[in-house]
Amino acid sequence: MSIAQRLDDIRRTLPAGVSLVAVSKFHPSERIMEAYEAGQRLFGESRPQEMAAKAAELPRDIEWLMIGHLQTNKVKLIAPFVSMITSVDSERLIAEIEKQAERCNRQIDILLEVHVASEESKSGWDIDELRSYLASGVLAQMSHVRVRGVMTIATNSDDERVVRGDFERIRHIYEELKPGFDANFDTLSIGMSDDYPIALEYGTTMVRVGTAIFGAREY
Ligand SMILES: *Cc1c(COP(=O)(O)O)cnc(C)c1O
Repeated sequence: MSIAQRLDDIRRTLPAGVSLVAVSKFHPSERIMEAYEAGQRLFGESRPQEMAAKAAELPRDIEWLMIGHLQTNKVKLIAPFVSMITSVDSERLIAEIEKQAERCNRQIDILLEVHVASEESKSGWDIDELRSYLASGVLAQMSHVRVRGVMTIATNSDDERVVRGDFERIRHIYEELKPGFDANFDTLSIGMSDDYPIALEYGTTMVRVGTAIFGAREY
């Protein structure tokens, strides 16, 4: 099946209001262009250098989303053009995004990545630490980062109940935090190739799909 056909199949299952991020990490620019020509504009990458190189050679109207763990010292590579950083998991990282966004004279949208999975290895904020950070008021003083919502990666498990438990928890966290922000806080990003149909049941507004569009990645 072609990339265009796969995109079409996925889009057909998404209700209005759910955006589709095509996760193009490790795939070459020619594959991204195939998706672009099929109308796709949101692309997710996990490595700053790779994203910057692709952004430099691909059409300007692509919106690039950083979806992988981001090291503080790499923020400056993507700050001039990134459309959203979805994997924001520390106070230090937010402070650096604020600094680099100000330097570029722009505002950068972010999602707070919260850890809800049962695996230790998964990245993201511990919810209690996030609550106390938000209560500190530091974030409210920043004018170059705009918090658009939360994201998580569910436990990698064949047991659907485990995945549902993770989605249920992140949805509650989204609802808990929403009143503390303005109307721009509208994004709950859950769902990848294997679990996005389940994520739809939990109110996802942004799925991040790689393999189901581009096929397996060659690392
Ligand atoms: C790689 C990645 C995805 C896409 O995963 P697939 O299983 O290929 O759909 C989604 N979200 C994040 C954060 C990722 O790192």
